[in-house]
Amino acid sequence: MYKPVKLLPAYKDYLWGGTKLGTQYGKQSEKDIIAESWELSIHEDGQSSIASGSYSGYTLEAYIKEVGVGCLGLKAKCFGNKLPILIKFIDAKDTLSIQVHPDNAYARANEGDSGKTEMWVILEHEPGACLYVGVNQMVTKEELRTAIQRGEIDTVLRKLPVHKGDVFFIPAGKIHAIGKGIVICEIQQCSNITYRLYDFDRLDVNGNKRSLHLQKALDVADVEPGILNTDPELTLSTTSEAVIQLLRSCRYFNTYRYRVDSTVRFCSSQESFIALICLDGKAELRGTSGTLNFQKGETIFIPAQDDAFTVTGHCEFLAVTL
Ligand SMILES: [Zn+2]
Repeated sequence: MYKPVKLLPAYKDYLWGGTKLGTQYGKQSEKDIIAESWELSIHEDGQSSIASGSYSGYTLEAYIKEVGVGCLGLKAKCFGNKLPILIKFIDAKDTLSIQVHPDNAYARANEGDSGKTEMWVILEHEPGACLYVGVNQMVTKEELRTAIQRGEIDTVLRKLPVHKGDVFFIPAGKIHAIGKGIVICEIQQCSNITYRLYDFDRLDVNGNKRSLHLQKALDVADVEPGILNTDPELTLSTTSEAVIQLLRSCRYFNTYRYRVDSTVRFCSSQESFIALICLDGKAELRGTSGTLNFQKGETIFIPAQDDAFTVTGHCEFLAVTL
């Protein structure tokens, strides 16, 4: 029988990052800045590893190889029996580049990686913090190119204020940027392909501007505004003990949010593993194979099998499945 395990993230110190993941989410890195912690990842650019139990010290990829791909669940077969998602915390002290990601077809043909559809849950923000999602009007690719070349791309983008708990779903092709002063949890396809349209003329630590990818960005950019909804998709259950909501489901992942005030029960199945990401508070996870305590900022991998769990404590966590 599989046991749930805690994960240790890989860290990224990109130039727009802050220190909140260290001071408020318990992350320990040698780097002063933690822009991102890759909590659940087998991507070659940053692997998470096992932090509890007898596989402690294994990379997540080595652990999956050792215990068998069955731990990912039956749904992983649709993704070549590989972990198809990546989950991160992101601390944007400064605004990220205005960017877009390709879909699977474009990414496979041009980059040898997967496409990237992503979703964000807003964990906290400074007063008045905003982000960009999609265009604010129908534009042609030529109009988009002109706006970028004039340094006026923000005039054609939809700028939105954020609230704690907001949910943003960003399909491949939607132009976006996380604004300064926002901490999010991101659930995305396992991919590291980003096309930058504009980087605010910033310089990196070596005094160089980061490269832009204008043509590729224009190739994949969605030029229709579309509809945006920042509410959860569905509230599944509300009791005095817990509120359970489905935030978003798509072909790559389902993300649920649990707000727990005493005890909540849930089951795992052979269909998919569950990634449990604690956003706030602390609690105890109890299953057939034992207990694990967890707190804000920690991530647990629950392997795919038929099992029943209780979480007891005061906490908020995401449960992500395939
Ligand atoms: Zn992105």
